Amino acid sequence: MDAGKVKKEKILIADDVPANIKMLGEILKGGYEIVVATNGHKAYKLACECAPDLILMDVMMPEMDGFTACGLLKAVEKTADIPVIFITASRTEEDIVKGFTAGGVDYITKPFNPTELDARVRTHLELRNSREILKRYSRELESKNNELNEKNVLLGEALEQITCLARTDHLTGLCNRSHMMEKLREEEVRFHRNGRPFSLILSDIDHFKRFNDTYGHECGDLVLKTISGILKNSLREQDTVARWGGEEFLLLLPETDVSAAEGVARRLLEKVASHELDYNGSALCVTMTFGVSAYEKDSGIAGSIRHADEALYDGKEQGRNRVVGFADPEV
Ligand code: GH3
Ligand code: MG
Ligand code: MG
Repeated sequence: MDAGKVKKEKILIADDVPANIKMLGEILKGGYEIVVATNGHKAYKLACECAPDLILMDVMMPEMDGFTACGLLKAVEKTADIPVIFITASRTEEDIVKGFTAGGVDYITKPFNPTELDARVRTHLELRNSREILKRYSRELESKNNELNEKNVLLGEALEQITCLARTDHLTGLCNRSHMMEKLREEEVRFHRNGRPFSLILSDIDHFKRFNDTYGHECGDLVLKTISGILKNSLREQDTVARWGGEEFLLLLPETDVSAAEGVARRLLEKVASHELDYNGSALCVTMTFGVSAYEKDSGIAGSIRHADEALYDGKEQGRNRVVGFADPEV
């Protein structure tokens, strides 16, 4: 087709009487491309082949009538949306109902007014065009919607990764300080709801600086990763261990009183001290000191951490590699 030339709409006229075909062709005044069929079967085949924009269908035809042909066209996806206008001499209620039931969009009885026929054809072509445009928009919307959904899934995954990274200490893979603070606040809320005790353990690697100084920073990092693994794997699912500072770890033990927490700390002390750590053929002896405190409502989170820190300091003072519980001087 030449650029700029508008493609004519195609109308299929199905009628077994040549004079009727000629008359309809004249009414449509050459504004359309006309194709013709002389019975219902031929109309069906031609419509499948040339996809007309509209069909003017006589009802009474040899071999196959117009209702049957229309029913066939409506049953096939490719031709189902082509508007079919019945043109017939029959004015009976029954035939009119049959026409619409078969899927026709209009029913024109003979003799008809040529201007009215032309107007109805135009109306149904415009309706069909509007429907086609709507269908195209709907398809485009659906595809954009699918794209958006896919992007949404990717964004969700990226957000999950970022959230996870933001909560994790990159060297040890443990919880970082800010995530531990969130966990502590959650536990505090639970404490206020059900009054169940929870405890904190602040632990610090003894003379850690010596590993760095003697064997290098890489060795220090290996010690940190190894100790992190031991702590994490020795705790219950509901406990949390965070890297609190350089070689300092804070442990949160829900539903645990201070004496049970001291028991946990002693178990950890044994595990760390008995672990054989090899660094390039050198056996490293690692020990830790543990300060234990129970959460106290009056002290809050900051005060309870401070208590664990004071106990840890006492443990260092007393010679390290030990567990010390916080003792309130006023008690
Ligand atoms: P103490 O028994 O009193 O705790 O002595 P310490 O040597 O363990 O403690 P100190 O605070 O004197 O030294 C801690 C060192 O840990 C200093 C710092 O350079 C080192 N450090 C902190 N973060 C890292 C890290 O991510 N990797 C390594 N390799 N070293 C670290
Ligand atoms: Mg230390
Ligand atoms: Mg320290």
